[in-house]
Amino acid sequence: MEKVFPAKPGQSIFRPRWIVDLCFFLGQYLFWGGLVLWLLSDFGHWFRGLVPEQVTSFFGNMPLWLQMIWVVVLSDFLIYWGHRLQHNVEFLWRFHKVHHSAEHLDWLAAHREHPLDSLYTVGLINIPAFALGFPLESLAGFIAFRGIWAIYIHSNVRLPLGPIRKIIGAPELHHWHHDKDRRAGNYANISPLMDILFGTYTCPDHEPEEFGIEEDTPKSYAGQLIEPILPGFISRRIWK
Ligand SMILES: [Zn+2]
Ligand SMILES: [Zn+2]
Repeated sequence: MEKVFPAKPGQSIFRPRWIVDLCFFLGQYLFWGGLVLWLLSDFGHWFRGLVPEQVTSFFGNMPLWLQMIWVVVLSDFLIYWGHRLQHNVEFLWRFHKVHHSAEHLDWLAAHREHPLDSLYTVGLINIPAFALGFPLESLAGFIAFRGIWAIYIHSNVRLPLGPIRKIIGAPELHHWHHDKDRRAGNYANISPLMDILFGTYTCPDHEPEEFGIEEDTPKSYAGQLIEPILPGFISRRIWK
């Protein structure tokens, strides 16, 4: 799709910093992803007590398809507001900025994510299922779809979708989320519905000039992993 419908036609597969993103890709699939899932499966039940028993039993009596819709809508709501916090709370931005430090977007750049940032996001997405006692296995397909969707919206692709993009979303919406302006908008993950509802939807008819962030950040994989967990005065000395 990147070859047939490129958003930035001149961009090569081996664009600058593709090796760093390849490290994030391998790190995520070979190590961090498993660790995040293990933490979730072992500690996810802590969220059980969050919701009164009357609510969980009311929810448990619904047909499975209705439970699924509820879980997906609640997850989208949480991920939208959780993502806005990642951009507005300095402590969360420390980790989330690693994802935004990518200056070239394509399918590989989707994997540039600090493991603690992934833990935050994956945790938020799954809280409704845990809290309502919904079997995670039933959502496995949907969770896999979210992963593929993340690759799609970061890819260097622009499809002639027209107004449909307002319902199902599109790469250009997430590309604008990666604009150098940290508060550019488009925080939703799959459908831009939450952005439209809460006034953060943006979709100019061209690609952003530049992706990335204003801050100086480490260029290497190891540096990107370590910098957010070091106290600010130390990282400023090393990377500025
Ligand atoms: Zn973001
Ligand atoms: Zn992104």
